[in-house]
Amino acid sequence: MKRVLILGAGTAGLIVANKLSRDLRREAVRGEVEVKVIDRTDSYVLEAGYTLLLVDQLRQEDIIYRKRELLDPVITFYKGDVTKIDLKNRAVETHDGVRHSYDYLVIALGARYDLSYPPGLSNDYNTYYGPLEKVVELRNKLREFKRGRIVQLVVMPDEPIKCPIAPAKSSLLIDGYLRHITQTRAQVEYYLLTPTDHLHAQPEVNKELLLAFQERGLNVIFNFSAAEVDPKEKVVISESGEKVKYDLLISVPLHRGPEAVAKSEIGNPFGFLPADRRTLQYRRGKEHYDDVYILGDVASIGVARAGATAHYQANVVAYNISCEIKGLGCRRLYQGEAICPLLSDVPAPANWPYKGRAWMPWWNYGHKADPFVPTDWGWWIMKMYYLSIPLTLRGLI
Ligand SMILES: Cc1cc2nc3c(=O)[nH]c(=O)nc-3n(C[C@H](O)[C@H](O)[C@H](O)COP(=O)(O)OP(=O)(O)OC[C@H]3O[C@@H](n4cnc5c(N)ncnc54)[C@H](O)[C@@H]3O)c2cc1C
Repeated sequence: MKRVLILGAGTAGLIVANKLSRDLRREAVRGEVEVKVIDRTDSYVLEAGYTLLLVDQLRQEDIIYRKRELLDPVITFYKGDVTKIDLKNRAVETHDGVRHSYDYLVIALGARYDLSYPPGLSNDYNTYYGPLEKVVELRNKLREFKRGRIVQLVVMPDEPIKCPIAPAKSSLLIDGYLRHITQTRAQVEYYLLTPTDHLHAQPEVNKELLLAFQERGLNVIFNFSAAEVDPKEKVVISESGEKVKYDLLISVPLHRGPEAVAKSEIGNPFGFLPADRRTLQYRRGKEHYDDVYILGDVASIGVARAGATAHYQANVVAYNISCEIKGLGCRRLYQGEAICPLLSDVPAPANWPYKGRAWMPWWNYGHKADPFVPTDWGWWIMKMYYLSIPLTLRGLI
């Protein structure tokens, strides 16, 4: 029997598991193949919906799903905390001491947040980066925010954050929300502090965002590396000593790889996993494991960390594993496809004809994002995309 073990039932893990089980259903039913998924939680929460939840465009119940219900019936779901990954001996350990052996391993454990840097951050921590309770808490604060200065701080000294467009996208959505829903924008000053020298690495996306920031009176301070947050004084201090006062601080925290990766000593210094950029097989210097695939946010391969990226990667990995198991000799390569949805306005029914606007810039290793303009029908496509996520996670799209 061939055993495919998938670590993590998030965006990448669910899609790859469901695609594999469809491709290998006959073999699975005959007992020739086992597809097993390990995850420590029962619920899947759609992070891509957080920015919309923040501005009252989605409800909590729109973005929570039960993992078991999303998984194909032939998949074995094992609820457990992965504690050790032993690539040499083809085995994974969970918190309960159980050892899970494999022939193929897919690591899709995502990223975690580290609030220990900069000092003071955790004492005044408001975020839309999750968990869900924190996003709801911040939404409630925005609903009640009447006047003052909102500062959004991006903490990113090394590894890129998930959804690199989210800080700029959320700034535009918050602007639209305060302007057209709570109608408090005139009394609010807004700053985005980012350690980069751009709002997005894709030039066309950056151009569109800079224009929107300028038109909407949103301030941005580039190359801002945070050194400290002082919650008593309500001030953020940069490494160069620059001080920015705030009334409401929104933070995008430092990203790190999963603890299990660090503990197993198989990752880079930040706990993320290196892989071949096209086959997605594990590669670290001279260490090559062709039976191990790295997917989604846990991968450190220089592509945007996004659900859409994970989706493209899952298609490639599921195809290649099932081809190999069936002995068909077929193979696909990941071409670096990525999408960062740009939602730039919220619809305001009371202010008709003010409409939501959005677009989905797309690029890959060989092609930069094309010029685009967010449109109102782009908004409805995006909203349908978010609401149809269960189909994507079930591997049907
Ligand atoms: C605010 C925000 C907005 C975003 N917007 C978008 C967007 O508009 N479009 C888009 O494409 N992407 C967006 N993203 C990014 C997207 O959510 C992620 O890139 C995507 O979910 C990554 O999928 P993943 O499977 O790699 O990780 P995850 O979905 O995080 O899954 C990791 C899984 O591993 C499990 N796990 C971790 N450690 C262990 C362990 N030790 N043992 C057992 N299980 C474990 C977790 O429980 C989890 O289920 C956004 C992200 C954020 C935060």
